[in-house]
Amino acid sequence: MPPKNRFAELLPEITAWRRDFHENPELLFDVHRTAAKVADLLRGFGCDEVVEGIGKTGVVGVIKGKTDAKGRVIGLRADMDALPIIEATGLPYASKTPGKMHACGHDGHTAMLLGAAKYLSETRNFDGTAVLIFQPAEEGGGGGREMVNDGMMERWGIQEVYGMHNMPGIPVGQFSIRPGALMAAADQFEVVVTGKGGHAAKPHETIDTTLVAAQIVVAMQSIASRNVDPLKQVVVSICTFRTESEAFNVIPQTVLLRGTVRTMDPAVQDFVEARVKALAEGTAAAFGATAKVDYQRGYPVTMNAPENTEHAVKVAQAVSGRVDADTAPLMGAEDFSFMLNARPGAYIFLGNGDTAMVHHPAYNFDDNAIPFGSSWYAGMVEERMPAA
Ligand SMILES: [Zn+2]
Ligand SMILES: [Zn+2]
Repeated sequence: MPPKNRFAELLPEITAWRRDFHENPELLFDVHRTAAKVADLLRGFGCDEVVEGIGKTGVVGVIKGKTDAKGRVIGLRADMDALPIIEATGLPYASKTPGKMHACGHDGHTAMLLGAAKYLSETRNFDGTAVLIFQPAEEGGGGGREMVNDGMMERWGIQEVYGMHNMPGIPVGQFSIRPGALMAAADQFEVVVTGKGGHAAKPHETIDTTLVAAQIVVAMQSIASRNVDPLKQVVVSICTFRTESEAFNVIPQTVLLRGTVRTMDPAVQDFVEARVKALAEGTAAAFGATAKVDYQRGYPVTMNAPENTEHAVKVAQAVSGRVDADTAPLMGAEDFSFMLNARPGAYIFLGNGDTAMVHHPAYNFDDNAIPFGSSWYAGMVEERMPAA
């Protein structure tokens, strides 16, 4: 079955919204122009309720079906924020703000969900309530968490949530998804190692902080290779190693290490956090130094509920007939995970064709994906809340 004919008709209009968002990118929670335009459009479609300022700058639109016999409520989510990247696409609608760019396709996600909102407002061919969620600050700010903490799920009685992300390298119109863990939890940690600085020619009078920190870096490689079950995914990367001195002849007093941990399983995440602390503190102690560890949990695992994933696959199948329902998980992270921790649901990838990868300065969302994405969003509502 081809994408809904209505979205073929709406394509020029949805494309124009997408390109307007692309030209006017905004970062993190500072998505005031984007959110205002989203809210205006939702009101224009005749949504039953439009509320701004959820999770700081998020927008929620509510559309009631023709009937509401079963009290069903389904949430659909898109993200609105851009990235601090200098755009290099050369497009006529390229970013007007140097240093800000829609390089992750959130312009496309927002436009596709607006398209679905317009269609659902016109047709209302479902039994229940559709809640359209437009979130700020996906790129590191935890906007999804803010909306959940703002009581969004309870306020609108949302029972299930569905989200989507475009993906370069997958043909346009093809979907990919998997039940269970789809994307990783991303944590970060900082270790401050303190030894005893001094003259590099008198190392015996110092506790060489550089040597201690180097031992900590090496010891942490054993977490993935020796501590975690080889069949479970884990990444421990130490990315910053900074001494307080740039001299050739000074043993520094302190060294700063920074790194990231990616895991797919909450039990592994707990275990790795404990190992990072134990290895840093224990290794430092063995040399007579100290290590202070600050471990921060970031986005949790993006966990697709099996039953909801089956429905997502069914709808994708109906939209294009091209679905990889057992795609490999990614070690990247996604803050829709906070919504999936609050309610069962599923997150799906939609092909963006042979473009530059997301977060690359030459990336662009492919507007040909719009009918597929809008159809999937709308299809989830009609599939999960069929008209009585
Ligand atoms: Zn991104
Ligand atoms: Zn993204």
